Amino acid sequence: MLPHYESIINEKTNERCIRGYKMISKTMEEALNRQVNREFFSEYLYLSMAAYLETISLRGFAKWMRVQAQEERSHAMKIFEYIVARGGKVTLGAIEAPKAKWTSAGKVFEDVYAHEQKVSGMINAIVDLAIKEKDHATFEMLQWFVKEQVEEEEQALEVLNQVRIVGDIIGHLFYIDHYLGKRE
Ligand code: FE
Ligand code: CA
Repeated sequence: MLPHYESIINEKTNERCIRGYKMISKTMEEALNRQVNREFFSEYLYLSMAAYLETISLRGFAKWMRVQAQEERSHAMKIFEYIVARGGKVTLGAIEAPKAKWTSAGKVFEDVYAHEQKVSGMINAIVDLAIKEKDHATFEMLQWFVKEQVEEEEQALEVLNQVRIVGDIIGHLFYIDHYLGKRE
């Protein structure tokens, strides 16, 4: 039985949606799609940082960035799957080219920290929208991201502080590098 068959073709746009009803608003669908793009951008940014860190032989730092990049992809996919689950349409836009040059590991981590603070702001803005729309399901899904951003900011700041403390002392920097390289 196909109870919502009539609703499958949108009469105004003639758009076919074989899954029937959309359970998120158009505004929310756009906001979530934008966040999918930003999470893929984060993956790209961290890969770009990994590439830079390889050029200065900080292979542990680069490993840490690769793992972080993988995580960002999983963030994108979490929202991707949620949009699908709610009968929405995932639309993938172009991914902006990330910055490619830094002058030190410290500068890289200043950017990581600033970037994660920006991402937290984006997540909070979608939470605000979910509250405004009384969209409890999206609100609940986003709570995972709210918690994740606390961890992201904390760990970025932790490494940034360590790098700031050791400054340009190469031996100490390699000690941190060895430790960061253990990230799975
Ligand atoms: Fe993320
Ligand atoms: Ca994380």
